[in-house]
Amino acid sequence: MVHVQRPILIVGAGQAGARSLRALIDEGVTAPIILAGDEPHEPYDRPPLSKDLLKAFNPKNADPLCPAEVLAAPNVEIKLGDPVTAIDYEARVATTAAGETIDFGSLIIATGGRSRALPVPGGDLCIGLRNMDDCARLSQELDTAKRIVVIGGGVIGLEVADAARARGIDVTVLEAGPRVMGRILPPTASHWLAKRHQANGTDIRTGITVNRIDKIDAHYAVETDQGLFEADIVLAAIGMTPNTEIAPTDALGPGGGILTDTSGRIAGYDNLYAAGDVAESFNPHFGAHLRLETWRNADRQPQAIARTIAGNPAEYAEIPWMWTDQLGHNLQVVGFWTDTSEEVPRGVPGEHGSSLFWTCDGVIKGGVLFDNGRDRRFLETLVQNKAVVPTESLADPELRLKKLA
Ligand code: NAP
Repeated sequence: MVHVQRPILIVGAGQAGARSLRALIDEGVTAPIILAGDEPHEPYDRPPLSKDLLKAFNPKNADPLCPAEVLAAPNVEIKLGDPVTAIDYEARVATTAAGETIDFGSLIIATGGRSRALPVPGGDLCIGLRNMDDCARLSQELDTAKRIVVIGGGVIGLEVADAARARGIDVTVLEAGPRVMGRILPPTASHWLAKRHQANGTDIRTGITVNRIDKIDAHYAVETDQGLFEADIVLAAIGMTPNTEIAPTDALGPGGGILTDTSGRIAGYDNLYAAGDVAESFNPHFGAHLRLETWRNADRQPQAIARTIAGNPAEYAEIPWMWTDQLGHNLQVVGFWTDTSEEVPRGVPGEHGSSLFWTCDGVIKGGVLFDNGRDRRFLETLVQNKAVVPTESLADPELRLKKLA
């Protein structure tokens, strides 16, 4: 049962916002629901933007996130292309860039984030990749480019490197850290991946500092402490900045997100929620507030919020899971890698069906699955249960993970 008279306003029409809408409808909520997004497009799925969609861009190939009957439901109003720019939390009124005001009873902030700007002279010459228009632009520029410099050897940087090489373009990846995907992958997996990209023709530089970028005619010169790199396109893929501008300032957490409890409720406020990349939610698996930038978190958290709004309080706490598709391989990563962890390989990491787990004081904390997604839920169970598994059992490919879980 819904207890609000005024509309439920969802700000942000990405994964978390669109999923909030769908979940509210699935819960049978009949109160008015307004989904307000800043992009002009109806909600679409984002993972393909740095993968297949980039290799051959066609907006028709974007996967819609909401079925037509949800968008057309009698209690649903979709407002696109007009960002919410301010919220009066006392009066419960949101104002858009175009000056429209929207009253609300409940609010879900699902504003996601934007590409982090490269903080050097000429950093604004870089393009980013977060949304459909970015993907269209990058794909179009790749049509005529001969060389691209990708700043940041994280998940987006490497997926773009793969897509650009597939289109025959010279690729240089400039990574500030000592290794690629260093925050996500353990060293053995990171080195394996870097070698695969190098074998595919990508020039990967690590431990590099970009000092400035200049535009010379139609080209760019990227000046670094390891020399000058020229390119037709410079992409900055150095992480994201959460869009918290409209959030209550007293609810911002140390991770740069909006503090919520495990139900997605914003700390200190009734009927206000945050979901997805922008939410810094209490996660009992880790005993801390965490801001997670994973697809599944943005998919599941809204479902708990919708249930709570519908009067059936629910919680969601993610054991981090992400996947990336690169160079014909599917890598799935469960848990957080930390430098104090110990790697435990199962098979030869990188080979089809292999895994690379990590443990801390004997407790399994996470793992990378190489073309081995069928083990994902068993690995998640082990991590969630803080299982202590003998190293030799973890390393034994004959012992099914399902059995250990
Ligand atoms: P990322 O994975 O955090 O990688 C950024 C990389 O850039 C890091 O290795 C970082 O190194 C490096 N870096 C930072 N500052 C730099 C600088 N000035 N010069 C050179 N390198 C620098 O971030 P991302 O690749 O931009 O992607 C983040 C987003 O991807 C998330 O918001 C999430 O929504 C999305 N995502 C995508 C997928 C997918 O496509 N498969 C999966 C999950 C999430 P340090 O670590 O040393 O700072």
